[in-house]
Amino acid sequence: MSPSPDGPWSLPPDLPAVICHYIDGHYVKSEGGATFPVANPATNKPYAEVAAGSGSEIDAAVAAADRAFRGGTWPELSVRQRAALLHRVADGIELRAERIAALESFDTGMPITQAVGQAARAAENFRFFGDVIVSMSEDAYRSRAQLGYVVRKPKGVAGLITPWNTPFMLESWKLAPALASGCTVVLKPAEWTPLSAHLLPEILHEAGAPAGVFNLVHGIGELAGAALVGHGGVPLVSFTGETTTGKAIMRSAADHLKALSMELGGKSPCVIFADADLEAALDSALFGVFSLNGERCTAGSRILVERVIYSEFVDRLAERARRIVVGDPADPMTQLGPLVHPDHYERVLSYVRIGQAEGARLVAGGSRPPHLPDGNYLAATVFADVTADMRVFQEEIFGPVVCVTPFDSEHDAIELANRTRYGLAAYIWTTNLQRGHRVADAIESGMLWINSYNVRDLRTPFGGVKESGLGREGGQLSIDFYSESRIVHVALGDTNVPRFGIE
Ligand code: NAD
Repeated sequence: MSPSPDGPWSLPPDLPAVICHYIDGHYVKSEGGATFPVANPATNKPYAEVAAGSGSEIDAAVAAADRAFRGGTWPELSVRQRAALLHRVADGIELRAERIAALESFDTGMPITQAVGQAARAAENFRFFGDVIVSMSEDAYRSRAQLGYVVRKPKGVAGLITPWNTPFMLESWKLAPALASGCTVVLKPAEWTPLSAHLLPEILHEAGAPAGVFNLVHGIGELAGAALVGHGGVPLVSFTGETTTGKAIMRSAADHLKALSMELGGKSPCVIFADADLEAALDSALFGVFSLNGERCTAGSRILVERVIYSEFVDRLAERARRIVVGDPADPMTQLGPLVHPDHYERVLSYVRIGQAEGARLVAGGSRPPHLPDGNYLAATVFADVTADMRVFQEEIFGPVVCVTPFDSEHDAIELANRTRYGLAAYIWTTNLQRGHRVADAIESGMLWINSYNVRDLRTPFGGVKESGLGREGGQLSIDFYSESRIVHVALGDTNVPRFGIE
């Protein structure tokens, strides 16, 4: 369906003209009034100006968060009280679910039917971490001589830096455990998609968060983000984004020896053996790479197919890809919307050209659908006969482009799956359960699914190996990241201390 550039579908009502920071309980502009424009990816027409934060706004936000942490009541509240607030935040998100989904879809280009799921998941993140924190225990260790008990303390002011692909959901994924742990926060959302974060201050305020507990600074990564990472008053940073950005952040954070959680890029394999349920594998392969416009960190962007079924599988994949409905993200019929930004669109298109130049066989898509003359639209694109040395096999494209490669044996499949610098997710399709386990064990990846697709249980470890990340979040692991475990030792009897200074 074609977008109507200024029609009711494309333009949600009551858009803010200016998107401000939120510091110490107040909406504020940048010093000197600096702003940058943001546009809607369906038309690339600017819809608002965003306050452009830099060092001074980060300083103010960190100072407010520090006051709320040290002098405020937040870390001292009982876990039950903090959990109650998190549940009220979830209520506030659910109350605005339609609005959040509409803004998210408008701002990112994500199809509205998929944005609805993101808002629901954001509410669930707050509920879940509210429940986790009240059910956690602290360990105790008893030996003959002494008892050691663990005290868990929030680390302090948490710096949270998020990407543009699923902004609201990822912001909630960091905010909820940080606040549950008793940290106060400064959030720096992605500059291309600031719109849904604009709802967070009112949601948190209505839920009863004291001033300074939650602070939001918009801005360009290299300025506002870098200032947050380089700030001495922020002992921990949770970052989700590109691997190259993650490396720059680690270098800067080293000066202060900060705790870091790094959720980075991926080039995840979807391995399909000939004995798999091919209909389900096909559904999963298509959803895995074309949902969220292919802008998904865990996208199965390399499909490895056993050679005996390769040709037939490629034909079926290409045929289904050609039928994927590309269009206005606000249309419920749309399955693939516009890419987030013209720069990113150009980058993804450049990979289509690279793939063709490298000799990969283009069997679906590869260009702008003719009925969509404006906006960052690309038809679902499938490259077959891709070899492991090609850039389209090696590099994260982060768009609706998938590579298909044949393999001859289990060993060959594992070797191909591991032939990138990434290791975020992997999907394995086989009815041979023993082989499924063997292959899952051998693929270098933080998260694997056998005969399934990207369904996550919030209690499980989330994160990547190799250049896909460092550290794990999810369930108690998130709380571990945002808190410090200290041990107190108590003697249980006489202490036989070696007596120095006595003859
Ligand atoms: P990005 O690295 O360009 O930006 C992410 C965030 O970092 C933005 O808020 C940006 O402003 C900020 N930033 C940029 N430079 C910075 C700097 N020097 N210092 C501090 N902050 C800086 O990533 P993106 O393009 O927004 O997102 C896409 C990437 O995110 C992809 O690589 C994708 O795989 C990855 N991603 C990973 C996960 C995961 O959980 N592993 C989830 C979603 C996205």
